[in-house]
Amino acid sequence: EAVARASRGEAVIDASLGTLLDDDGQVAVMPTVFQAFRDVDPRRAAAYAPIAGDEHFRSAVIADTFGGGDLADRSVSVATAGGTGAIFGAVVNFVEQGQALYTSDFHWGPYRTIADHTQRRVRTFRMFQAGRFDVEAFEEGLIALGDEQGSVFVLLNFPCQNPTGYSLDENEWTQVTEVLGRALDRFPVTLLMDVAYAEYAPAGAADWTRHFEALIPRMPLLVAWSASKTYAQYGARVGALIATVHDPDERQRVLNAMTYSCRGTWSNCNHLGLLAVADLLEDPTRAQAVVEERAKLIASMGERVDAFNTAAVDAGLIYPRYEAGFFVTVFTDQPEEAARQCRKDGVFVVPIQGALRVGLCATPQSSIQRLVESLARGIAAAR
Ligand code: PLP
Repeated sequence: EAVARASRGEAVIDASLGTLLDDDGQVAVMPTVFQAFRDVDPRRAAAYAPIAGDEHFRSAVIADTFGGGDLADRSVSVATAGGTGAIFGAVVNFVEQGQALYTSDFHWGPYRTIADHTQRRVRTFRMFQAGRFDVEAFEEGLIALGDEQGSVFVLLNFPCQNPTGYSLDENEWTQVTEVLGRALDRFPVTLLMDVAYAEYAPAGAADWTRHFEALIPRMPLLVAWSASKTYAQYGARVGALIATVHDPDERQRVLNAMTYSCRGTWSNCNHLGLLAVADLLEDPTRAQAVVEERAKLIASMGERVDAFNTAAVDAGLIYPRYEAGFFVTVFTDQPEEAARQCRKDGVFVVPIQGALRVGLCATPQSSIQRLVESLARGIAAAR
């Protein structure tokens, strides 16, 4: 509807998309990234990739996630079809059929699709209490599920969670790791961190990995790494599943299992994409150019976030702390009706349970005031 109405000349704001658009409404791209794709040797790109992905790609994503050090030394990885493929590989290997994975009530919809598709379930906890991460609800639900199932697979998506934009602060991370420690006294826990938006983290939230150093001897840590947002390359379908496992024998078994899942699902990944992304991660000149190009995208997102916060506070919108990230959610008891009201203004947002998901990634800076006014009007009219 948004596309159809825009094509008839209406000034539509389509904040339903999950892709970063520039202020002219075009998909934002990084020239250095495309150059890396062009520079890949066609004969290498045309050949099959190894089942688990090229060795240097696999080590580069580990280094990108942990830097060097202890966590990197205890990690293995496989290439996956985007972050989505990594989440799939984690779920099929670490959640028993019939069991539930554990995540927040606000979460990226495909978690449920993956669980459903693989005969698993989803159990959620209330994510917010008074606009802040509800650590108590997280612990209560975790213990209940662990006592019921005998183990729990926890799936968290920070920084810049989709759909809320929320990033845990230092204090919240400390509390979350303490909760995991207490749960581990009762039953095994595996944690999957979905870091699809890692590069867009607000200051201070990027370095989440050090919170886990003490827990690794007791708990496998999995990371769903994605090139989609990192390189504005959503269509390349490049990702990785990283597993940080303390015991070397267990680590090898985990790698075997993850590789087996690759073979049984997509066989091997987009070789052109793996080679280009490995080069972007490893070549210092290209890596530096990417940092500079990405900084422009981050700055543009940052301006939108600031404009949204200023307008949204004035308009009395209720939403969680929002410092960075592609999306924010504005709370409403009547999301379907509120979204319908917004559509009357030519404003498109996604109704989800208890909120509207607003993609500032797809909203030009100049439209944010109008977007916020429409949200305020729509939510009030829906009451
Ligand atoms: N996780 C979250 C929260 C996302 O929003 C996305 C993409 O929108 C992904 C993972 C995976 O993206 P991809 O499969 O393109 O890497």
